[in-house]
Amino acid sequence: MPELPEVETVRKTLEKKLVGRKIIDVKIIYPNIVENNPKTFCQNIKNQIINAMKRRGKWLIFELDDYFLLSHLRMEGKYFFKNPSDEIKKHEHVIFRLDNNQELRYNDTRKFGRMLLVKKEELEDEKKINKLGLEPFDKNLTSLYLKEKMKNIKLPIKTALLDQSIIAGIGNIYANEILFASKINPLIPANQCTLKQYEDIIKNTKTILKQAILNGGTTIKSYESSEGVHGRFQQHLSVHGKENEPCPNCHKPIKKDSVNGRGTYYCPNCQKN
Ligand SMILES: [Zn+2]
Repeated sequence: MPELPEVETVRKTLEKKLVGRKIIDVKIIYPNIVENNPKTFCQNIKNQIINAMKRRGKWLIFELDDYFLLSHLRMEGKYFFKNPSDEIKKHEHVIFRLDNNQELRYNDTRKFGRMLLVKKEELEDEKKINKLGLEPFDKNLTSLYLKEKMKNIKLPIKTALLDQSIIAGIGNIYANEILFASKINPLIPANQCTLKQYEDIIKNTKTILKQAILNGGTTIKSYESSEGVHGRFQQHLSVHGKENEPCPNCHKPIKKDSVNGRGTYYCPNCQKN
């Protein structure tokens, strides 16, 4: 599942190719991807210029003239640039015709991704966006903010980090990595962390996500070819997916547990508290 760094990488790639382009037409092949009425969606998006590519949490936001197009890739969503004459592939569900005679095709093997066209003045009322918590790089993200947000949360800190209404954009992989770097046990109740632990979480969130975005940036080129724009890249991970492998710090085996249904990797020796 793409997380913030991957979505940011997709955003940057699309920004390079799309800003200034006009959407001439759109074809919806699998209507469930689009949350608006398909007919209205097509009518409204026609002749809109893509003025900017933004991101909020894991949502891509295409800033058009009168609307924002929100796009969430969920598990497998990707964008491809194709020629109109290219054969339409099985998993290409929404096709945007651009004014440079190219097509932007949304491809999604699992069909979990979603798109939504929102009038500019109505974005603030859109729950998908206005319920999101602070961005990881927001200056207002402080240990006191986390303490306040988590004061009634008895769920494991691992689960609280995945709550998009607290910090927007952290998914399962990076939650595991952030807690390992912070030497915090993923199972401790979120409201029992110390201020110092919240501080460590914030510091490591920034460091780890920034590094992942940089890694994505260096490999941007490969997404534009046959693989499509999906932002997946070689992740440099310490614990995630490494059950029974030696911990990079103490060399004892990494443990895997299920926490609220999500695979949770940690070192029981380094993450005691
Ligand atoms: Zn260890």
